[in-house]
Amino acid sequence: MKRLAILGSTGSIGTQALEVVAAHPDLFEVEVLTAHRNSALLIEQAKKFKPNAVVVTDESKYKEVKDALLMLPIKVFSGNQSLNEVVQWEAIDTVLGAILGFAGLHSILAAIDAGKRIALANKETLVVAGELVMQRAKEKGVDVIPVDSEHSAIFQCLVGENPASVEKMILTASGGPFLGRKPNYLVNVKASHALQHPNWSMGNKITIDSSTLMNKGLEMIEAKWLFGLKNEQIEVVIHPQSIIHSMVQFNDGSVKAQMSLPDMKLPIQYAIAFPHRVANTYKRLDFKDFPKLTFEAPDYKTFRNLAIAKDALVKGGNAPCVMNAANEMVVNAFLQNKVGFLEMSDMIEKTMEQVAFIDHPTLQDYQESDLEARGYATEFIKKSQLSIY
Ligand code: NAD
Ligand code: MG
Repeated sequence: MKRLAILGSTGSIGTQALEVVAAHPDLFEVEVLTAHRNSALLIEQAKKFKPNAVVVTDESKYKEVKDALLMLPIKVFSGNQSLNEVVQWEAIDTVLGAILGFAGLHSILAAIDAGKRIALANKETLVVAGELVMQRAKEKGVDVIPVDSEHSAIFQCLVGENPASVEKMILTASGGPFLGRKPNYLVNVKASHALQHPNWSMGNKITIDSSTLMNKGLEMIEAKWLFGLKNEQIEVVIHPQSIIHSMVQFNDGSVKAQMSLPDMKLPIQYAIAFPHRVANTYKRLDFKDFPKLTFEAPDYKTFRNLAIAKDALVKGGNAPCVMNAANEMVVNAFLQNKVGFLEMSDMIEKTMEQVAFIDHPTLQDYQESDLEARGYATEFIKKSQLSIY
């Protein structure tokens, strides 16, 4: 029996994690659920899964949640500090990090400090502070099991292998809804269009990141820290069918791939049940339905975010943190039709030029770089071409 804290339980990953839990009451028990603002769903989840505690980080929602759960033996907390305390509770053994963005960093560090196993969906945590997070996990003897489908695929390919025999890792990318498109088309696309991902149903932010290929850039950085890779060992290939979730090439030329129909419940289940593989009844892959699995090189020129992220990966220090902060801001603005699709890359680049480079940042440095970058990005967003209409 695994006792879970699900951070971000109302999101796309969080709700799918609860589906996995509901399907295996003999294996998983929910100790803690957390959400930011969606109090209605958090209340509903709390009534169904009866955790020991819930945390609603937006303090204006506290009273509503507290009142709704008054008659149940469920503790209700609010604010970020409570989040960082609750993840350290004795009763929890695995923390699923499914909060969105930089906001997920501190609770993951708190959980690592308390020796909890981490099932990590929140890739921004590793993009921002991967070196620090993985170093701390190592010191505490904590396993960080990836939930991101590509990294779960790689993790599964590595089982039983000697890490020293890895030559390179190949991250697959669907290419998103704008695969093959050029800047003259992209200049006019709107959020409603970018939100139509061909293969995956995910939260809004990551869906936009998939359409700009920033998601794959973030995943290159995530892979570097998770698997201790050199920059040149990380490759990206476009694979529009999303059947191969990623691959590992070994020093004898063998390549291992992990495949399945695209369904996030699978990597979620693998991560929270690890080291066990758990039987389920999800739809199976029939190769005859996919007579063509195709591969092509990414278009770094059109999808500049991928090139920006690759540069940030090579530069290191606080560069990925600054890039991530700017990206979170511009994606949010794009979702509200406040900036154009191609403008997002310009603004991320300009923000990165403004914030001073720090070679070996501390946690405090990351926090300050993040804030500073958000400030610059806000200024650029205000000056967007769209804001004049
Ligand atoms: P989402 O927007 O659907 O959900 C985000 C969750 O985080 C919600 O429960 C929300 O309440 C909580 N949250 C948001 N801001 C918060 C804050 N400031 N403080 C505390 N909690 C906050 O996002 P998602 O698509 O589920 O993605 C979550 C994470 O998982 C992201 O880092 C994403 O990159 C990663 N991921 C998602 C998918 C997917 O299929 N959705 C796949 C791979 C990786
Ligand atoms: Mg992914």
